[in-house]
Amino acid sequence: MEFKEFTNSLFINGEWHQVDQKQTESVVNPATLEHITKVSYGGKSETEQAIAAASAAFSDWSKKTGRERSRYLYRAHELMLKDVDRLGEILTMEQGKPLQEAKGEIKSAASFLLWYAEEASRGYGEWLPSSTNSKRMLVIGQPIGVVGAITPWNFPSSMITRKVAPALAAGCTVVLKPSPETPLSAIAIMEIFEKAGLPGGVVNMVTGDAKAIGQAMLNSKAVKMITFTGSTATGKYLMSEGAKQMKKVSLELGGHAPIIVFDDADLEKAATLSLASKFRNNGQTCICANRLYVHEKVAEAFTALLKEKVEQLQIGNGVKEGVDLGPLINEQAVKKVKAQYDDALSKGAQIVCGGSDLNAIPNGLAGFYFQPTVLSEVTDDMAIMTEETFGPLFPIQLFSDDDEAIAKANNTDYGLAAYIFTENTGKTLRTAEKLEYGIVGVNDVFPALSEAPFGGMKESGNSKEGGHHGMDEFLEKKLISIAIE
Ligand code: ADP
Repeated sequence: MEFKEFTNSLFINGEWHQVDQKQTESVVNPATLEHITKVSYGGKSETEQAIAAASAAFSDWSKKTGRERSRYLYRAHELMLKDVDRLGEILTMEQGKPLQEAKGEIKSAASFLLWYAEEASRGYGEWLPSSTNSKRMLVIGQPIGVVGAITPWNFPSSMITRKVAPALAAGCTVVLKPSPETPLSAIAIMEIFEKAGLPGGVVNMVTGDAKAIGQAMLNSKAVKMITFTGSTATGKYLMSEGAKQMKKVSLELGGHAPIIVFDDADLEKAATLSLASKFRNNGQTCICANRLYVHEKVAEAFTALLKEKVEQLQIGNGVKEGVDLGPLINEQAVKKVKAQYDDALSKGAQIVCGGSDLNAIPNGLAGFYFQPTVLSEVTDDMAIMTEETFGPLFPIQLFSDDDEAIAKANNTDYGLAAYIFTENTGKTLRTAEKLEYGIVGVNDVFPALSEAPFGGMKESGNSKEGGHHGMDEFLEKKLISIAIE
């Protein structure tokens, strides 16, 4: 796929704009280190223009019925599904994940458009039985207003539709700031909204200076809510700055997901799905497994199964057939994985398979690669047991007591997703209730579907995306209390 040397990436009031091309942002293919294109570098003034466009569009858009709004989302859904192959290629080129995974993400991104096209007509209120006969009370949900949406690079398409579709369904208008690493998928989604006939200003996008764009959103009284997916550090910053105006700040942040493999687990299933959780998107997923706790009775058999499967994974440029693992997103990401790996080895971890030998990476690959690696003899003082890894490094620790494993799983400030493998119903429910996580997968590592609420506890976030819960975040509840006597 060919791109021009420069691609406009400011979508404001239904039109494409560019700023002074002297300052641009370069987009690089992490699999080859090749330059793909440059995009516009917007900042404060472009963000203010986008906010003004979104504010002007809000009045008409919020007055449309849910049915009317849903038509645009249905059209966008159809357009996206028709274009899965091209959109998948763009995604792989700028982000690195294998093409099959990228196309899967596009289908998932489209599923949020469909779900919220359906949900747009269902912003139900409540009728409250009053404690006095002289009153009637009802609660309605009204769109909160202009929303600033800030999205990450690990799911450059589905993180956008998971925020923008429910916001639009609820009647809000949006200013989007995608990740600087992956603006091309975001541009393609804006083009889809444009083709779907969305009125100008309902969705706008500004790429460029993250801090300046974020600050312009935070400073604007017109922006009533910021919805953010990214690091916990940036999330905390946005929340503290947003507090100055009591802005609603919805956060989807980092994770440190544990997998517990109990002694009654189906080991084949547990090994296959643990691998899928850890190595999907090369470990760059906020819900991907970061730590494995395996019951000592089954540890040997489980580790052998996992090793056999990990050793079959093919690393390479994601556009090639048969590649399971693409590159990491950038050099910093490789350094972070290597630092956790070195720290673990220096404290006594053993390599089950993989390792940091870059000579083991197939010839001719210039990108940001790291071998899929499994470590055993892992102890709690190793950085990998407390810090998010975001890479293909998998530590295994053994346990003998179930409650000890659950306590260890909970011993983190993160609380996004946890997974358990067991065939015992009682143990499933007892454990799921005890785990301090917003999502618990039971023999299941793919819980993020359009109909389900996705979100974390503790320092992993404060909101839900997906399902009717996801649209609720964009609706402000208003009590209408009517005295009838
Ligand atoms: P990650 O490590 O996943 O890239 P970040 O929190 O750094 O997490 O980035 C997630 C998104 O937040 C990206 O779109 C990034 O550009 C944006 N971002 C980073 N810093 C700020 C900021 N100060 N204000 C607004 N957005 C920011």
